[in-house]
Amino acid sequence: MRKYVIMGVQGSGKGTQSQLLAADLDLVHISVGDIFRWNVQNHTKMGAQVRRVMAAGELVGDDLVESVVRSRLTEHDWNFGFIIDGFPRNRPQTEFFLESYDIDAVIVLDLPDSEVRRRVLNRRVCPTCGINYNLIDSSPKVAGQCDSCGMQLVTREDDTEEALAVRLRTYHDKTDPVLELFRRKEYVITVDARPAPEAVQAEIRARLGLPPAKDSADAEEARSA
Ligand code: AMP
Repeated sequence: MRKYVIMGVQGSGKGTQSQLLAADLDLVHISVGDIFRWNVQNHTKMGAQVRRVMAAGELVGDDLVESVVRSRLTEHDWNFGFIIDGFPRNRPQTEFFLESYDIDAVIVLDLPDSEVRRRVLNRRVCPTCGINYNLIDSSPKVAGQCDSCGMQLVTREDDTEEALAVRLRTYHDKTDPVLELFRRKEYVITVDARPAPEAVQAEIRARLGLPPAKDSADAEEARSA
């Protein structure tokens, strides 16, 4: 059973890295932002509650966030473990989390703010499968369409200059101190998020003492055969 938290500024690749790790290790990927976005898209009561806060780049209230996380984790479909992305984001959420769950490691994706702007403002997302693209270095094969399902890609409502400025400020004010709390417990590994996704994934695995990704192990075997 493996239980990880992944943290990092906007656009640092938390979603992509979580999905890679989760797919290979059979972990459940829990993204609080995705849960909220699903609710907004599907016009639920919760969606109506969080939509404006999200679009402005602000944090949703702790009570709602904690109840979403608690109910997601009590579903207990995570036989091999989970990787939680986008939570905790401030001190109260961290205290709640540490009281209720043990974790094995916190993966921090490190990216300078100057690179964040470039990535986030060029990000496009598939509304159906949640795959992220970047118009600069990971554009879809057909412009504007998801490689996996062909759906029209969209820009996240909070990937604007204004919302990004708020999100970055909030990250440094509220989320940086969370890292200090985790560091005291010696859970934290920090990985440079600037290289290509596969290289970042390989580094995460090496730092966590995990075997290389199945795909890269296969490629290695083929090369040495
Ligand atoms: P993300 O996809 O992680 O960037 O999350 C998108 C938005 O969802 C954030 O800007 C917040 O408005 C909200 N959100 C996601 N996770 C949290 C959290 N742990 N605490 C408060 N708000 C959150």
